[in-house]
Amino acid sequence: MDNVALTNVRVFDGERLLEPATVVIDGDRIGRDPAGAATVDGDGRVLLPGLIDCHIHLTDDATLSALARNGVTTGLDMGTWPPELVASLRGRPGVTDIRSSGTGATHPASMHAKRMGRAQGLVADPDEARAYVSERVAEGADYIKIIVDPPGFDEATVRALVDAAHANRLRAIAHAANSGAVLLAQAAGVDVLTHAPIDRPLSDDEARATVAGGQVIVPTLTMMEAIVERLAGVAPVSYDAARATVGQWHRAGVTILAGTDANQAASAPASPPYGSSLHRELGLLVDAGLSAVEALRSATVLAARYFGLADRGVIAPGRRADLVLIDGDPVQDIGAVSRVAAVWCAGVPVTETMEAR
Ligand SMILES: [Zn+2]
Repeated sequence: MDNVALTNVRVFDGERLLEPATVVIDGDRIGRDPAGAATVDGDGRVLLPGLIDCHIHLTDDATLSALARNGVTTGLDMGTWPPELVASLRGRPGVTDIRSSGTGATHPASMHAKRMGRAQGLVADPDEARAYVSERVAEGADYIKIIVDPPGFDEATVRALVDAAHANRLRAIAHAANSGAVLLAQAAGVDVLTHAPIDRPLSDDEARATVAGGQVIVPTLTMMEAIVERLAGVAPVSYDAARATVGQWHRAGVTILAGTDANQAASAPASPPYGSSLHRELGLLVDAGLSAVEALRSATVLAARYFGLADRGVIAPGRRADLVLIDGDPVQDIGAVSRVAAVWCAGVPVTETMEAR
């Protein structure tokens, strides 16, 4: 792979935009030496670390390409079956790099199990919890996903899943889309809560319990917005509850990471599009109270740090050359993040709009 020097780009360093400078792509990494490199004139555009979507579901190669075209160079899958599909989508060159939980754990009595007609990932008690985690570990899962929404799981079974995950040095991630699930997941000691409650906002005491429990949140506001639109008038749901709770968590100092729940599953309650939904999510996070810099951090440096992706999330020599060139200034206007001019996945150009000379 030839070296490329991106000249005249304003790098987002995790806190602010730097003065225009040159960033070198050396193979699949960010390098230091522009000597002999082909040049791409960034024309004063903003260069972000490749975006990380902390909640997707895997479909196929085409959806990884859609993520990549939109600047999402890492996707964290939160539930896909079968394991052969997950394995086939790992480590593909030139598209979005993935991590995966494999199939999520679901109680047989849950709405999820019934609606999705599931035969895999069913966990009824602590013994089955330990067996479930062993199976995911054998498949190479990167973390453990638990669909906590009641009815179904008791605290002992969720705790058994969490303990088995931790015994294997994996994080336990809870799907919790209503307040009861949030409280159960927090009591059971999960590491990550994904979604945000749409039945009612958390109280201040409940939000502070998230701080005490050390949970990190992936609220998927784009998904909660879509579900509420779909269920309006049918079920007592409110997007304002999710938005208000994210604001409470943010003010309480909880780490918030960007994720969308992008999927193409026929049984899903809504299907945010791959890639562009992350741009929407960053706007919704700002609407819920995050600053634009905090929103950008939630999809880059913080996501990488939390999920142990030490090779990405910042633009620095030696890191993966996962890069997104943006027209406009997303620190001033988070909506600019959707104006993607060029993308590189581990040094491979995704778009043809900016040819090297
Ligand atoms: Zn999901």
